Amino acid sequence: MPSEPAIRIDNLVKRYAPAKGAKGSVIEGKLALGGVSFEVPEGAIFGLLGPNGAGKSTLINILAGLVNKTSGSVEIWGFDIDRDRRNASRAIGIVPQEIVFDPFFTPYEVLENQAGFYGIPAALRRSEALLEAVRLADKRDAYARSLSGGMKRRLLVAKAMVHAPPILVLDEPTAGVDVDLRRQLWELVSQLNREGVTVVLTTHYLEEAEELCDRIAIINHGRLIANKPTRELVDMAREKIVAVTAAADLAAAPAHPDFGRVQWDGARGVEVTYDKDRLSAGQVLAILQEQGVTIADVTTREADLEDVFVQLTASAG
Ligand code: ADP
Ligand code: MG
Repeated sequence: MPSEPAIRIDNLVKRYAPAKGAKGSVIEGKLALGGVSFEVPEGAIFGLLGPNGAGKSTLINILAGLVNKTSGSVEIWGFDIDRDRRNASRAIGIVPQEIVFDPFFTPYEVLENQAGFYGIPAALRRSEALLEAVRLADKRDAYARSLSGGMKRRLLVAKAMVHAPPILVLDEPTAGVDVDLRRQLWELVSQLNREGVTVVLTTHYLEEAEELCDRIAIINHGRLIANKPTRELVDMAREKIVAVTAAADLAAAPAHPDFGRVQWDGARGVEVTYDKDRLSAGQVLAILQEQGVTIADVTTREADLEDVFVQLTASAG
């Protein structure tokens, strides 16, 4: 028997209320989630990937209890958010997309206040340990306003973990942060996951999802268009490309029934796209040589998530 999922989302719909437009007109309510269903396995680092406006924050904010869903059901750690909001909330820690702190609290106070909010008795609080974990121990008593952007992000992660939830959700944790900080946050997230925390993160960076997540769901225009182990998703990009530079000008573009697109620049360069299930790069080169191409240089390009994403979003319209 597989264990219970950490999060179960079933046919989730969110339509934002209509807004008032100019001159008394009404702008129709935006359908942000059009019936989304998926499960987050316990222990996973689960990536919710999608372009801006896809509906990621709407979904996270429903988990957080900040946005009311229109219909569908959500269970967090087995607790239904309608019937058992309190227990559902206790099972999840959320790092919001926007950074908001009272600038006059220190990191230590931010965590203590949050512990107070959850009614955690002083003896059971772990503010010091959390500051240590996110490497802010030396900023314990600094004003929040004096922290760098990266430090604030880390403090938000600590704040989300104050009540020791089994699930941590991060909404675009690395949007607009530099490479070093991104690495730091990835390390922190991996560390928490190794300690047993189930992680959900949203991102519009493909490489982030590919590097960090063991399972990825792709959402586009409020609909789920993929939900697979990362490896399988990357494997979905079946096309590979071999680019060849010939030693002499080519008389004609090479052709073969098993080739996909052949792009020929009319001189010495040719790019052959092929299905990796049908051919290997070596076979492509052999075919080119049979057709009289003397190969001076070769490069190949591996499929990546970018290709999958483009393919899926294109086919989903
Ligand atoms: P993402 O986080 O993937 O960028 P969002 O969930 O923020 O996407 O937004 C999804 C869609 O819902 C967008 O079209 C956005 O404009 C719309 N939307 C988000 N918040 C609101 C709101 N409070 N009122 C009306 N429309 C909203
Ligand atoms: Mg968002």
